[in-house]
Amino acid sequence: MIIGVLALQGGVDEHLQMLEELGVSGRKVRLARDLEGIDGIILPGGESSVMDKLARALDLAEPLRQRIAAGLPVLATCAGLIYTAKTVDNPAPGQQTLGVLDITVHRNAFGSQKDSFDTALDVTLPTGVLEKVQASFIRAPEVISCGEGVTPIARLNNGAVVGAMQGNVLALSFHPEESGDSRVHQAWINTLEKVSDQ
Ligand code: GLN
Repeated sequence: MIIGVLALQGGVDEHLQMLEELGVSGRKVRLARDLEGIDGIILPGGESSVMDKLARALDLAEPLRQRIAAGLPVLATCAGLIYTAKTVDNPAPGQQTLGVLDITVHRNAFGSQKDSFDTALDVTLPTGVLEKVQASFIRAPEVISCGEGVTPIARLNNGAVVGAMQGNVLALSFHPEESGDSRVHQAWINTLEKVSDQ
């Protein structure tokens, strides 16, 4: 199994390191040809508008969107969640997204860098609940509405939705990889292993 990590900018190394810890091969994805043969892709945190600009400039955005629409499993964190969203409430000028997750997202919903916080929250996956996942919120987005077919999978105490899932796309507003809590990655990889066993 090979897991791609979108490596245009942002927190690429943290995800590659987590894959290594879990004994899974990771591959940096920068060009369309890097998509060949991968079994899943991680879209990291960073800055979603920059990620979008670079992906389009490198002719990666459309092939990536097509692979995801055809079923490539996705794990997205923070800016990655924004990049998957169908609608961004407050986009940067000209910002586009892949539109593979039917949510509306509000960027920087919890304030600026200095308002960053860590918390522990439950993540409800189809395979079970991961309790008290260590989550870093860094200029994090909030999912402000979910379309039909989208399941909210994580919430803050105030009810704000900070994780959503639709089919092959699992997206989180926060970073589990920053704190070294590998349970979300592990659970996601387990579901891919099941698919490739069949
Ligand atoms: N605020 C960033 C954006 O709009 C996301 C921040 C992050 O990924 N930590 O893309």
